[in-house]
Amino acid sequence: MSGRDKKELIESLQRSGYLRTPGVIKAFRDIPREEFIPSKYSDHAYADQPLPIGNNQTISAPHMVAIMTELLEPKTSDKVLEIGGGSGYQAAILSKLVNKVYTIELDPGLAEFARTNLRKTGCSNVEVIHGDGSKGYKESPYDKIIVTCATPRIYDVWKEQLKDGGTIIAPVGEKAPQILIKGTKEKTFNTKKILDCVFVPLRSTSQNP
Ligand code: SAH
Repeated sequence: MSGRDKKELIESLQRSGYLRTPGVIKAFRDIPREEFIPSKYSDHAYADQPLPIGNNQTISAPHMVAIMTELLEPKTSDKVLEIGGGSGYQAAILSKLVNKVYTIELDPGLAEFARTNLRKTGCSNVEVIHGDGSKGYKESPYDKIIVTCATPRIYDVWKEQLKDGGTIIAPVGEKAPQILIKGTKEKTFNTKKILDCVFVPLRSTSQNP
């Protein structure tokens, strides 16, 4: 891992068209991915691949974080809810682009891992909540919701907790590959299929309607 690896990764994500807007590119420069992975993987921090973060979970590959962040079209006034906090890296990237991020993580150990990583990197506008994100979170309404675990469907509570005109990005499907969906809440709820992807599954603590 070196500064050169990081620069090369960012340039390659730009060449591939995954990173497009100056703000998102700057967020990738400013957030040290090595602080969000176990130290034994430090040498791979800037390889474009998912990495284990413990408890069978992974930090997403940088190109997937780039794709989802760009799709979210973050604005400085946005309040964002993330389902699947994991390492806290995606929330850290968003923290540089929006006003406030709430990220929910089901696994208590990972919630603490994310909290520590976000504290170390000074991302003070992120709140990590230990809980089941399939039930949403009480700070609604949100401008944007980003789901970073594979969900069987877009739950009604997420649609309810979005502002009018709000956007949700989620990998939808039970089996791999899932389809990355961009949903927009207008008079009706409209969804667009973006691409195939593979995420670890959402684990729910109850049956959802
Ligand atoms: N966004 C993360 C990667 C997420 S991996 C990052 O940047 O590192 C998916 C995460 O979703 C895992 O940590 C898993 O524990 C969590 N998860 C699974 N089901 C969940 C649920 N119902 N609510 C909240 N988090 C959940």
